[in-house]
Amino acid sequence: MPFKPAAALAFLTAIATAFCLQGQTPVNDTAKLLTEVIRVNTSNPPGNEAKLAALLKTKFEPLGFQIDIIPTPDPLKSHFIARLKGDGSKKPILLAAHEDVVGVEREKWTVDPFEGVIKDGYVFGRGAIDFKGGLAVFAQAAMLLAKNKVPLSRDVIFLAEVDEEGGQYNTTWLAKDHFDKIDCEFALNEGGWIIKNPDGSVRYVSISTADKSGVSLLVTAKGTSTHSSMPRPDNAIFTLAKAMSKIGDYDTQPKLIDSTKEFFSTLEKTSKPPMSTYFHDLVEGTDPEKVKIADREISKDPLLHAIMRNTIAPVFLNAGFRGNVIPGSADATLNFRTIPGTNTDELISEMKAVINDPRVDVTNAGSRGMPAGTNPAAYAEYIKAASRMKPSTKDSELFRALVQQSNAVFPNVPVTTYLFQAGTDAAAWRSRGIPVYGIYPYPISAEDLTRMHGNDERVSVESLQQGTDLIYKTLVQVAGK
Ligand SMILES: [Zn+2]
Repeated sequence: MPFKPAAALAFLTAIATAFCLQGQTPVNDTAKLLTEVIRVNTSNPPGNEAKLAALLKTKFEPLGFQIDIIPTPDPLKSHFIARLKGDGSKKPILLAAHEDVVGVEREKWTVDPFEGVIKDGYVFGRGAIDFKGGLAVFAQAAMLLAKNKVPLSRDVIFLAEVDEEGGQYNTTWLAKDHFDKIDCEFALNEGGWIIKNPDGSVRYVSISTADKSGVSLLVTAKGTSTHSSMPRPDNAIFTLAKAMSKIGDYDTQPKLIDSTKEFFSTLEKTSKPPMSTYFHDLVEGTDPEKVKIADREISKDPLLHAIMRNTIAPVFLNAGFRGNVIPGSADATLNFRTIPGTNTDELISEMKAVINDPRVDVTNAGSRGMPAGTNPAAYAEYIKAASRMKPSTKDSELFRALVQQSNAVFPNVPVTTYLFQAGTDAAAWRSRGIPVYGIYPYPISAEDLTRMHGNDERVSVESLQQGTDLIYKTLVQVAGK
């Protein structure tokens, strides 16, 4: 074919236009709000959540919300509460989102993590996924109720919290003296995922009805403390190393609760053989050999491995104090993330049986296992509250509305309950018997999920719109008259 400059130019222009349009997803109000929220750097520590509370006030107050900014003993940290009044015929619904984020390794980002950059159809920034994206969706959905003057049968409370990522003034602290301000019939929080397939379609919607909790155990080996020039066979460090090696080779048995059974059955329906067979065998298998193979194959995914069992992670080792002294003891701290209903004494017995060595003791590590910056009394309070928690019921107006509206926004996509793999701020309500449902309200790919707490964290502009639709429609159904 002869070369035709005009045709070639038209072709190149078409390509260029296509590329430009790719980056031009129309920016919605939720995405705009998220960029503003990301620009307030609330990396915790120190958090600086009071600045974000001040920004939120300027958004909610003009729409007729009652505002409560709850100061903490740290002047840089305040909880933010906005309440839209209903007629009081039903108890309030609450939307909870944490204001703080984890810090960044700035040099590993390709954009400024606190600039609120929109690029290629995504909002980039620390907290885009966890959980400023959710904060923006919840805030936007609640504000839309006011903008659209939806008549309400119950108050809608929006709460933005401090110290979820660490620190002592979190919702457990808030609930102690201010529970009247956050009391509700049920609440939404972070938790389950709306997972996308590689082709961009939505695979499933998961709503968490329970969180794993945690406990740390101390493994202590004893030996003779003496001069290092005359070693004896009972060296505490060798004894501890042998015990740790046994724990390393061991894994706990799968322990499925109702929500994880439903979750794995959903994975069975939405995957192909052989994975669908493994998911089936894990939930319903009666042949222990098949269950073992299913466990081994499914556990290649660290998240799935974690939600089906109590996990064991050594986090500290401690031994020795002089170059010429054999220490009399050596210890390791093991952090367990536990399935609801796990008893610490049973866990201690299980570890003692695995180690099977009278020179080694296993005890509760207490506050040694707590996250950095946590105050021991606050941690003890949290552990106490978490131990009282039961999974939230599926038999509530809010859960039913979430399922119905998920079906409306994402037709033919299964909705399942989920056990969240870590702790969240839900304990303040769940420990008081109030159901909390967790969702990261935006479809997300497995690849983007790895950016959470990592580098170039991002959420798609389109997903923010879909999430806002889902939460707004859910609020209208549950709180509208
Ligand atoms: Zn979070």
